[in-house]
Amino acid sequence: MPTKSIHHRGWHFLQIPGPSNTPERVLRAMGKPTLDHRGPEFGLLSKRILDGLKKLFQTDGHVIIYPSSGTGAWEAAMVNLFSPGDKVLAYETGHFAVLWKTLAEKIGIKVEWIEGDWRHGVDAQLVEDKLRNDSKIKGVMIVHNETSNGITSDVMEVRNAINNANHPALLLVDVVSSLGTTPFHQKEWGVDVAICASQKGLMMPPGLGFNSISKKAFEQAKQITNHQSYWQWEKIIEMNATGYFPYTPASGLFFGLEESLTMIFEEGLETLTQRHRKLASACRVACETWGLENQCLNPKAYSDSTTALIIPEGYNADELRSAILKEYNLSLGSGLGKLKSKVFRIGHLGDFNKLMLMATLSGVEMGMELTKIPFQKGGVQAAMKYLTDHPG
Ligand SMILES: *Cc1c(COP(=O)(O)O)cnc(C)c1O
Repeated sequence: MPTKSIHHRGWHFLQIPGPSNTPERVLRAMGKPTLDHRGPEFGLLSKRILDGLKKLFQTDGHVIIYPSSGTGAWEAAMVNLFSPGDKVLAYETGHFAVLWKTLAEKIGIKVEWIEGDWRHGVDAQLVEDKLRNDSKIKGVMIVHNETSNGITSDVMEVRNAINNANHPALLLVDVVSSLGTTPFHQKEWGVDVAICASQKGLMMPPGLGFNSISKKAFEQAKQITNHQSYWQWEKIIEMNATGYFPYTPASGLFFGLEESLTMIFEEGLETLTQRHRKLASACRVACETWGLENQCLNPKAYSDSTTALIIPEGYNADELRSAILKEYNLSLGSGLGKLKSKVFRIGHLGDFNKLMLMATLSGVEMGMELTKIPFQKGGVQAAMKYLTDHPG
């Protein structure tokens, strides 16, 4: 017999910056019996999905689907392109950039590291300067949207930096929380590998990792002979041509992915990115009214999918989050790495609309009141005004 349980009625508000909410349509699509992954129906399903993903990444290369989280997709990209001892250039935008660097080092890749303060995006000039002085760098690794601090970097500027330095390095970009939330154009921006996962802008449960690779990256991978791993692109691409995989794919999730891609294209990428921009802007209006400091110091780099707020000195962001969870059944994102307890994050991505934002902001404002955090009231009101001033 349970002695104590908290009964919540109504919705749980999952406003962490990923995994994001899974829409009913996607949940229902996944409630199907398991398919024969070598049968005709599955081959057609995966070909439809692979075509949809290419359209989403905007690439004329290949998209690889792994049964993995984003971390697996990072590892996949690196082991396909680099050998132990190879050198890459990476940029410290925040916690995810640090994790990616650490993983690279674990697999024997040397990382030339540009340190950052976790409050600004990538400074492309610094990338260009490093590349001019080092012809041995084989890849540049950046995080498009740093989910740990709500900072978006300009990928095109980094591409231009590589071109200006006339350097052959490949460009690898983590788009885990930007794909399906923020404009991203792989081919136009000259991105060689875009790394993604299913649980953020794609509105799916966790479980699928993606490498979207340019033709140049694929050619380069064929030269790497020292690994024959599970992650190897070549074998997967070969079998994907007919819709199959060299191993058992996460076929149940494929039903959901087809539905989420359908939803994304029904809305249209432009409408989708504008929706994210508007909701993010309304969220920021509330935060500014409250007088809480944004972790991102450059307003041009504010993320369309996440806002990270600094808690006033002497208060603990995790205590605020747990009070809000307990009282309002609303989950907010924690501060990651060195931002632990200092920052909390509001996720405003994926299957998300104006009233969901208003509920989230109400939960934050009430939670600050409850925990006696000093702030200016009226953030919720200001966000409502922003939304009514910007209808559509
Ligand atoms: C969420 C996220 C990841 C996720 O990695 P997992 O292995 O799926 O936990 C990677 N990079 C960024 C920028 C993210 O936001």
